[in-house]
Amino acid sequence: LAPDEPSSRAPRRAEADEDDDGFALALERATAAPEARQRRDDVDDEDIVASAAGYEDEYDDTRRRQAPSELPLPLVSTSYEPFERVAYAPPKELADLAPEDVKKRREALDIRVDGCNLIAPIERFGQGGFDVDTLKALKRCGFEKPTPIQAQGVPTTLAGCNVLAMAKTGSGKTLAFILPALSHVARQRALSKHEGPIALVLAPTRELARQISSEANKICKHLRPRCCAIYGGVSKTDQFKALRGGAEIVVATPGRLIDVLTMKNCTNLSRVTYVALDEADRMLDMGFEKAVRSICRAIRPDRQCVLFSATMPPSVKRLCRDLLGDTFVTICVGDVGAANADVQQVARVFVDDAARAQWFFSTLPQFIDAGQVLVFVTHKNSVDELVHDLTTRGVRAVGLHGDLEQHDRHAAMKAFKSESVHVLV
Ligand code: ADP
Ligand code: MG
Repeated sequence: LAPDEPSSRAPRRAEADEDDDGFALALERATAAPEARQRRDDVDDEDIVASAAGYEDEYDDTRRRQAPSELPLPLVSTSYEPFERVAYAPPKELADLAPEDVKKRREALDIRVDGCNLIAPIERFGQGGFDVDTLKALKRCGFEKPTPIQAQGVPTTLAGCNVLAMAKTGSGKTLAFILPALSHVARQRALSKHEGPIALVLAPTRELARQISSEANKICKHLRPRCCAIYGGVSKTDQFKALRGGAEIVVATPGRLIDVLTMKNCTNLSRVTYVALDEADRMLDMGFEKAVRSICRAIRPDRQCVLFSATMPPSVKRLCRDLLGDTFVTICVGDVGAANADVQQVARVFVDDAARAQWFFSTLPQFIDAGQVLVFVTHKNSVDELVHDLTTRGVRAVGLHGDLEQHDRHAAMKAFKSESVHVLV
């Protein structure tokens, strides 16, 4: 991967994955430098180039120099109903553990905790203080036992702490922030007509927002709360209806959320007592910092906040300080930031594109025999070209990039997941 000219490394932009007519784009259009505007039209994802070339810190510096102005979302109210923040008291068998035992249990699960907190990881969902219905719902979803991030994250969050959590992909982070969301809903009076959500989840992309809400709905469908996803790229009508119908949990991309918040009588944040930020580092990478800060500013200041991030660049640290306050708890599971030990990584360097293409097309059949194949390229155009090349060679492939209609994006993901195509570019 050859890094581009330094001058063309514009800050990464959000609209590839966000609503094209949305607020984020309008804001970017108004503020982006001309060369950045031109460039982001064809660059879909510069992250790979940036991190491969070790430019992360420089990126960060560019961003730090940007004015920290925030979008003017109004505070809905200045007086809020009180809410119960603490929903967890450890069962006796955990409360009685000596600090060294808590430490041992954490070590066994490869959990590290930082912050003034002695809450032991739970071993079973039954120790999490959930009501019978929630426990039954967990069982029906096939969630027999908490994963390590859930074992430590759930009781810590239920105990009312603001939490920063890091754990590798596939470790069950979604449930770790959805279970406390359910608990917030359960502890509060039902929504009256036209009231907005009690729990708000922010996610960087439409795909992730959909994935989180479908994960949440697995369990919600056995319980009272309703969960809906709000993201750009599709008509607002259905999302508007879902919001107006009353959803206690809303999973949203920041741009579209600001969009609907500025619409008349659509939804508001006056009932929100719990905010979860998933993939916060990605959210900042994609230029959503102002939007995220603005949204959080419009929520009652005593809300609970949890933040999930795979990496901890200075920009995310600053966001943590600002959103989580001084006394948050940090929970790390495994070696985050380092390479995932379950993944074998092999890097190959080629003298030129032709050599790379030759290797790629001749090796691809072996990869396809072994499983599904994901290919990343730098430009949106290259996605279409490569899919075309593969298809003419008889390989079943689909492309996914920010210019596709939402319908086509769904279709591509579905085809790849169901393994009716073998390569996703
Ligand atoms: P992450 O966000 O950490 O990458 P996810 O939250 O998407 O991971 O979870 C990955 C998968 O693990 C999902 O299919 C989810 O349903 C499943 N899962 C989560 N928690 C549990 C659990 N306690 N037991 C079994 N499966 C789980
Ligand atoms: Mg996740």
